[in-house]
Amino acid sequence: MDFKPTYTPEQEAFRKEVRSWLEAHVPNVEGDRDSDENYAKYRQLGRDLGARGWLRPTVSKDYGGGGLNFEQSVILYEEMDQYGLGLPPYYDSGGWLGGASILVWGTEEQKQRFLPPIFKGEVVTWQLLTAPEAGSDLAGTKTDAIRDGDDYVINGTKIYVGGSHKPDMLWTFTRTDPTGPRHKNTSWFMIPTDTPGVTIVPMDLLGDGGEGIGASVKNTVYFEDARVSAKNLVGGVNNGWQVATTHLELEHGGGGSIGRNKWFERAVQWSKTEKRNGRPLIEDAEARDRLADIFVLTEVSRLFGLRNYWMNRTHQKMSYEGSQSSYYRKLTGLDITTNLQELFGPASLINGGGFDFSEGTLDAYHRSAITALHPGGTADVQKVLMARRMGLGRDEAEAAGKTVE
Ligand SMILES: Cc1cc2nc3c(=O)[nH]c(=O)nc-3n(C[C@H](O)[C@H](O)[C@H](O)COP(=O)(O)OP(=O)(O)OC[C@H]3O[C@@H](n4cnc5c(N)ncnc54)[C@H](O)[C@@H]3O)c2cc1C
Repeated sequence: MDFKPTYTPEQEAFRKEVRSWLEAHVPNVEGDRDSDENYAKYRQLGRDLGARGWLRPTVSKDYGGGGLNFEQSVILYEEMDQYGLGLPPYYDSGGWLGGASILVWGTEEQKQRFLPPIFKGEVVTWQLLTAPEAGSDLAGTKTDAIRDGDDYVINGTKIYVGGSHKPDMLWTFTRTDPTGPRHKNTSWFMIPTDTPGVTIVPMDLLGDGGEGIGASVKNTVYFEDARVSAKNLVGGVNNGWQVATTHLELEHGGGGSIGRNKWFERAVQWSKTEKRNGRPLIEDAEARDRLADIFVLTEVSRLFGLRNYWMNRTHQKMSYEGSQSSYYRKLTGLDITTNLQELFGPASLINGGGFDFSEGTLDAYHRSAITALHPGGTADVQKVLMARRMGLGRDEAEAAGKTVE
């Protein structure tokens, strides 16, 4: 049996078009990809992609997407992956998750107002869920949004909010009925960042997050009598938990992904030049054993992502697959960094191993793999979710969140 994917001549022509467009538009950057200067270049790439409808390829043109089919979107993601980039090529957690949630739960007016700027790369949005009083137990949030005339007045604090460059909008989970029953007292808002009463303060944390361009810093966001139009409440008053099931399903991996992290390629490259006892590391059987482990871990993670991407975009019925992929990716991150450290020994602590990175890259990667166990549903929470979806210890299996409108 041949598992190799094949493409039609039209699809190959599309790949050629994408490849040559990217060659002309992906910026050459030196040093830290997340510096102000380089980030601005990736934002511009996002706008250029957005203008072609390639930033959110499968979303309808009516809402700023490209109206492309599943196969074309895979080609786009694959070609972006050659540059180590995703879509969008910068951190836009609230745009990705909030945008998808608005597609499912927003009114037509909200879709027309909020989505084109996101899907054309004109605005960047952060996601604000976690609070000092509510992390995994999201429903326990005490960020209150209280109706006052045509507005809501928001008070509360959100923590661990990525990223490193100020956003335009804040996709925010709030409590709209503080005395109401749990899971029936919350609502989501799109909040302009420049709203009076919103203050963003960077946090000083050990891990760098490691989630790509624009993500490295985490922040505390304070709301002090911040006034937001009721028109920005998305998905219905006190219906926030329903909307959250969409957001969380995607954040937990139910949307899938295309591509593989590049540590295997980097490790092979360095193993050819780094010497042990006068011979290239790659000639050492133990080293090759480690490299094989890294390949298997990254490849299985890629396949889980690809399967979920296909299931999601072709509207298959989903169950535990998102959390399965997220759980595997989280644990795999730790296994990969452990293998890298054992492969390169003390060198992994003190230099970037010739990866053209600044010093200490592998050590930073290891620290970020530890923190990466936590965001977007911790590794423990993914196991809880898998058990619920499989119906373990319950009469009925829990349904996956709705991710298509
Ligand atoms: C790098 C990074 C980026 C982040 N980015 C964002 C962001 O952009 N926006 C945002 O809103 N938040 C963000 N977060 C916050 C993240 O979503 C929370 O940290 C996470 O949901 C866990 O919440 P908590 O930290 O309060 O831990 P807690 O929920 O207090 O968990 C503490 C421990 O208890 C375990 N635990 C909790 N509940 C259960 C259970 N039911 N069963 C078994 N074990 C359980 C957890 O696994 C964990 O080990 C980020 C966090 C990190 C580390």
